Amino acid sequence: MTDAERCPACGTDRLQRTRVSKEVAAASIAVHGEGLTVRHCACDHVEVPAELGRAARRASAEALPAARVRWLRPDRCRSCARPLTMPARRTTRAVTVTTETLPIVTLRCDVPMTRCPGCGLDQLPSRARHDVAVALATLLQAAADEVSGEDQVDVDDLGPLERFTHRLRRSRGRPRRPGR
Ligand SMILES: [Zn+2]
Ligand SMILES: [Zn+2]
Repeated sequence: MTDAERCPACGTDRLQRTRVSKEVAAASIAVHGEGLTVRHCACDHVEVPAELGRAARRASAEALPAARVRWLRPDRCRSCARPLTMPARRTTRAVTVTTETLPIVTLRCDVPMTRCPGCGLDQLPSRARHDVAVALATLLQAAADEVSGEDQVDVDDLGPLERFTHRLRRSRGRPRRPGR
């Protein structure tokens, strides 16, 4: 049993995994994530594993390179440094996210892309370069919220005290945020 398999909030090793699919739009980007793993425990602590977030950011940064910014002038190609003079067009890109321990996630990203007239590399306009990170954070939050919005716990399986604290927690409507 490793730490990764324990709830970061209460330490229980009785974690359930759910896989959800979600679509969000953030700034210039829409992203659909399929097979996002969300972990939750009987105390209603919900989290998207941190390694999934890291892997998603890494994979999308590779698949969606961003142009270099230049002050008051057109962006430059991040590969050959030519000025990017072609208009951005919306494109859909599939990004596969793999981790060591979790099932594969597929992201379908609807993004603006501009093609370098020199080397042909498709890249995000620099104004959109932070939008991928925002969209991914929004997506993972939405996946966690979907799971915490459901009543995952079968109250009949709980002992009397657990049942009481479970009801109390629910009735307080405490925000249930995913851990980090
Ligand atoms: Zn917990
Ligand atoms: Zn280029």
